Amino acid sequence: MDSGKEKMGSEKGIIVYHLGSDCTLNEVEEGKIYSARVQGFANFGAFVLLNEHVKGLIHKSNLKGRHSERDPVLVKVLQIRSNGNIDLEEVTPSVYHSEVVVRKSASAALDELGRFLGRTIRIEGIVAQIKQTSGPTIFTITDGSGIASAAAFVEAGVRAYPEVELGHPVTMIGEVMTRNNQIQVEVSSLAVLTGEEAQRVKDRFEQTIDRRAEPEEIPFLVPSEILEQLRPQMRTVAKQVRRAVFEAQPIIIRHHADADGICAAVAMELAIISLLRETGGESDSDYFMIKRAPSKAPFYEVEDITRDLDFALKDQVRYGQKLPLVILMDNGSTIEDEPSLQYARVFGISVIVVDHHHPDREIDAYLRAHVNPYHVGGDFGITSGMLGTEIARMVYPAIDRMIRHFPAVSAVGDRSEARERQYYLDLVRDQYPEEACKEIALALDYQQFWLRFNDGREIVKHILDVTGTPQIHRALIRLLVDQANAAIGDQMAALMPHVESRVLQNGAHLFLFDVELFAHKFTFPPPGKTSGEAHDRLCQMHAGEPVVSIGVGPDFAVLRSRGVLMNIPRMVRELHDEITGGGISGGGHLVVGSIKFVEGMRKTVIEGLIAKIAQASTHPVRT
Ligand code: MN
Repeated sequence: MDSGKEKMGSEKGIIVYHLGSDCTLNEVEEGKIYSARVQGFANFGAFVLLNEHVKGLIHKSNLKGRHSERDPVLVKVLQIRSNGNIDLEEVTPSVYHSEVVVRKSASAALDELGRFLGRTIRIEGIVAQIKQTSGPTIFTITDGSGIASAAAFVEAGVRAYPEVELGHPVTMIGEVMTRNNQIQVEVSSLAVLTGEEAQRVKDRFEQTIDRRAEPEEIPFLVPSEILEQLRPQMRTVAKQVRRAVFEAQPIIIRHHADADGICAAVAMELAIISLLRETGGESDSDYFMIKRAPSKAPFYEVEDITRDLDFALKDQVRYGQKLPLVILMDNGSTIEDEPSLQYARVFGISVIVVDHHHPDREIDAYLRAHVNPYHVGGDFGITSGMLGTEIARMVYPAIDRMIRHFPAVSAVGDRSEARERQYYLDLVRDQYPEEACKEIALALDYQQFWLRFNDGREIVKHILDVTGTPQIHRALIRLLVDQANAAIGDQMAALMPHVESRVLQNGAHLFLFDVELFAHKFTFPPPGKTSGEAHDRLCQMHAGEPVVSIGVGPDFAVLRSRGVLMNIPRMVRELHDEITGGGISGGGHLVVGSIKFVEGMRKTVIEGLIAKIAQASTHPVRT
């Protein structure tokens, strides 16, 4: 209907535009007629000025009469070339009326493209992605306010505007259309901006995106002194995530493959996807722009970053994608992460950590931001799921209703003893009582075991009850919990008769069991969980007393403790220095962790470990 109006307008007569003195090339449009003044001559034609600083050329074949310098002429813009040169034709309409062109405060902002459907507009922004399809070249342009997908076509499968590269500030003219239900700009001209113009677009982008990325100031779901102290760092993370979305930078979320890590990462994933959808861009951007992947170890293994880098670098070459922002959740804060972070640094990849493992200071040199309760006097009782959910709410406040039970699930999954555990449980008590949270946590652990390295994006959503299909959620939880419990029961029936016990000099009960010889391999529960389950049973049998359990494998041991003031990362470091040829590494939380060694040194390492545990002080256990 808009085009109808425009036709009527053109029938009223020819319009001659007078370019205002502060106008630039941006306000000049192809096909329109402008008033101009002859500036000088060359043997191929005449140069004219549309105002003081916009100059064009009338090729001699397009000149209608003889002119002298400073003569007024009317010119039609035939073409604006990518280098900014304007090709003009002299015109001599007998009847016309004039209009003054004033400098537009800005070209069309990308967040309001929808208003211009069917119209040809000018947009300016930064090139965020260049994808060559078998048809047109798709440029993703962002101006800070939004993202536009623009199709440029020269020949099927041939790269249009090869001079335009990732990160260039550009100006583009094109028609706004819909394609597969999304808005796309069909490019008629695209040029790289230089000098002042380029700086103006970059500055505007920076200001707009910085303002827009600023997270909303919202209260936490529960009262928490630790969270309040972490708020500035959490806001920094939220801002960087929002910025990445607005800049069309892909995001990879790597997380520990347990219930806590999954809660943290899925909260963030859901917030990011909602923000992506709101921002525009391509319809497959959910899958293109965000990846969530579990890490088997509670740290970012070299195997993980190798895989992530492999994909990211290929996507950069094949699809012109930016390198990703990597968010490590429920891992990333210990010295074991350093080798992977060194890889990231080589490629300039930004890494953010949201974790509650005991952090090593050396790691911060590699990170853009690091949220960790230990930084402010808290401990692992503030789970990654709590942190992730609260940050996700800062990224996209409306995600709140969907994810507010995640912290409670993570708290029971990670056995938090922080005050916040009860607050988060109380928050969702009506819909998810503590028992339901425990079942969801167990179901997540069980399902993740079979998912292995896959994220299980949709299955996990059903387990976390965010799909709006509560009947499937309930049936699935029932099934997974029953299967998990049956598997745990089998494992315990085999293992428990083989538990060896000692009483240490500090009065703690020490229990040792071989999780390879007396448990089923390659099935659920894996050695870590098997040790935890055995530990829970042993604690129940020795209510009120300090208990340490060690699940021993051929070249590793898993530690669980209650009522003993251990510092597992420090014990591991000391053993590493004391036992020559032990090949010792490991860590984890202060009182829950693991240690690796070479198989031939198993006996020496385990006895060394027990000697250290025997020196730790004990404290009374609440029953
Ligand atoms: Mn955790």
